[in-house]
Amino acid sequence: MAIRRIMIYPDPVLLSQAQAVAKITRPVRQLARDMLETMYAAPGVGLAAPQVGVRQRVIVVDVGENPVTLVNPQITTAEGKQIGLEGCLSLPQLVGEVQRSEWVVVSGLDLGGKPITVEGEGLLARAFQHEVDHLDGILFVARVQDPTCIWRTDELKASVQKEVVHI
Ligand code: ZN
Repeated sequence: MAIRRIMIYPDPVLLSQAQAVAKITRPVRQLARDMLETMYAAPGVGLAAPQVGVRQRVIVVDVGENPVTLVNPQITTAEGKQIGLEGCLSLPQLVGEVQRSEWVVVSGLDLGGKPITVEGEGLLARAFQHEVDHLDGILFVARVQDPTCIWRTDELKASVQKEVVHI
């Protein structure tokens, strides 16, 4: 395993559409393992392949329950509403108040190529939505409804900074 370099905005890879993975090969499994290691080291609770410079539809998420890796993820159901602070490993200086669905169902493939479906609520649901957005070149700042609700990290009190999750 290896820690990969996290791409920082405005790197164009963060603004482009990622390609579906046609076949789960060894390099794809290696990518997913490296992404998990990179996410834990950052630290963050999610990472999408474009964040390590790879235009492929692979995400990893771990909000403290257990790691989830999804290839070609699709959000098939989204319900409810949550509003909360969100940060991104690729936009390290910014924090925004982002509205997301409270509960989602995500389908995709595991690293064995088997279809899997994962449900998430709260932070897990937020992380899935944030990561799938990355695959479509969408950053969280584009989801902030009120532009006055974007702050520089160093403007926030230390106690608030600690609460912000980076995805
Ligand atoms: Zn992000």
